[in-house]
Amino acid sequence: MPRSPILVLHGGAWDIPADLLDAHEQGVFDALQEGWRIIERGGTALDAVEAAVTTMENDPAFDAGRGSFLTRDGRVQLDALIMDGATLRAGGVACVERIRNPIQAARLVLDKSPHVYFVGPGAEAFAQAQGMTLIDNSELILDRERQRLAEAQAREQAGAPDQTFSGGSTSNQDSHDTVGAVALDSDGRLAAATSTGGTLNKDPGRVGDSSLIGCGCYADNASAAVSLTGWGEPIMKLVLGKWATDRVLAGRSPEQVAPEAMAYLLRRAGGHGGIILLAPDGRYGLAHNTPRMAWGLHTADGPRTGTLVREQDENETDTDQGAPAPPWN
Ligand code: ASP
Repeated sequence: MPRSPILVLHGGAWDIPADLLDAHEQGVFDALQEGWRIIERGGTALDAVEAAVTTMENDPAFDAGRGSFLTRDGRVQLDALIMDGATLRAGGVACVERIRNPIQAARLVLDKSPHVYFVGPGAEAFAQAQGMTLIDNSELILDRERQRLAEAQAREQAGAPDQTFSGGSTSNQDSHDTVGAVALDSDGRLAAATSTGGTLNKDPGRVGDSSLIGCGCYADNASAAVSLTGWGEPIMKLVLGKWATDRVLAGRSPEQVAPEAMAYLLRRAGGHGGIILLAPDGRYGLAHNTPRMAWGLHTADGPRTGTLVREQDENETDTDQGAPAPPWN
């Protein structure tokens, strides 16, 4: 039976400063257009999430593709995962330094490889063998990020509390600018994609939640599609993407599960982030326990973008059930 298709995006969840809000919302809007173009001509959810995430990777406003955060030694290392909920096919890459669009490399893994996940030089060699052009890492680096890294390292040397969440602690003010997409196409297929440059000042070789299956990304037509952003280590420990889709499978609605996942993240692991969650019947949930989350939504009624804003309670206790009602209600 034909479904009403829907595309939902996030463009990071953190205390997005007022002067960066427009760039985030514009970037999400542009990605909605690209993804929806595919959906509206009857294309697959998988193609739509790949196109949407590619657009955000190409936008330097986000921590994905060019303009990503730098590693401790000043390089960009990218992680991405894409998953097809209809078939459970998945493709992931991590720690790639020479690929402009890691989500496209991940898609090649999904399409062309019997394996699910490639890392580092092996991932780059696979992508090149499949026809992708490898670039110099410097093409992914912005001066803005060199400066941001220098400031983070100066704070670190001065013994300031860890604001980079590369280490053992984080603040929900820190930047979580990972991008993600979930979609349902008119044939009822779900898909999800997540792409990131990881965390600022991370140790080389560190992989976060974003590209790990069931952590920052997952899709199964039997349950739901999900993409997360936020502090990767706590999300990984809770396998939070799969946790959320399992709860939808158990009968709870995405609108309920999304804030529950954020509450669980904070309560169980002290983590912060944001989530988009989409069920096979088109119901969806968005939630975050950071001050702001950039989001976008496209249905047959048109595109909508915005920034969810959450008042932080002073002690950052477990109050995520109080996350704002979705602005489209
Ligand atoms: N989740 C990402 C990571 O830990 C960071 C982010 O969402 O911005 O690698």
